[in-house]
Amino acid sequence: MSGQPHKRAVVLASGGLDSTVTAAIARQEGYELYLLTLAYQQRHAVEIERAKQVVCALKAEHHIVVAVDLQSIGGSALTGDLSVPKNQWSSDPGREVPVTYVPGRNLIFLSIAAAHAEVVGASVIYFGANVLDYSGYPDCRPEFIKAVEATLALGTKVGMMGGRFEIRAPLLRMSKAEIIRLGLDLRAPLHLTHSCYDPTDAVACGRCDSCLIRRRGFAEVGVVDPIPYAVS
Ligand SMILES: [Zn+2]
Repeated sequence: MSGQPHKRAVVLASGGLDSTVTAAIARQEGYELYLLTLAYQQRHAVEIERAKQVVCALKAEHHIVVAVDLQSIGGSALTGDLSVPKNQWSSDPGREVPVTYVPGRNLIFLSIAAAHAEVVGASVIYFGANVLDYSGYPDCRPEFIKAVEATLALGTKVGMMGGRFEIRAPLLRMSKAEIIRLGLDLRAPLHLTHSCYDPTDAVACGRCDSCLIRRRGFAEVGVVDPIPYAVS
């Protein structure tokens, strides 16, 4: 019974819907939750406050917020260099990298997650990447995730000692509706999550890509989205 070592997982927790459902999955799979939030000078910094609320709701064992100033690098609508497109859902999102792509973001995030995992003794990193609703981001592709695992095996002390870090992206091929259904089944605190790329006073705009995808997902499930929107 007792004596079983605790399994620890680092979960990249943005305060968004996908990462919150991902954290709920990690919990259900029996892990102690080491949540990691990156404050990267994003336009939607309300995410960080929501992440703290999600941490409380999930009763996570541990949470850190790490500041990485990606605004100094620029090149993304999410860090303020470009405006966030509204009501412009691309008919073929797989062909283009959206302006909401943040250069190097997931590579940087996974590197920091692995550093944290190495220190706290976690061998699994949960990451809420998704390729289906949003196929335009190069750093959400499964081959990218596999390549980071291989890099971590080569570039960490754990790897040198024969260990491995596993990056789990359980939502990778799920639709937004499937993610919402799973979140409801797991009783994930969806009412605390934030998805909007361009909120005003912490209220979601209702018109950016991320809001449109989220709202369509809730509509498909047939459940009312519990968060308020500026535009109905
Ligand atoms: Zn929005």
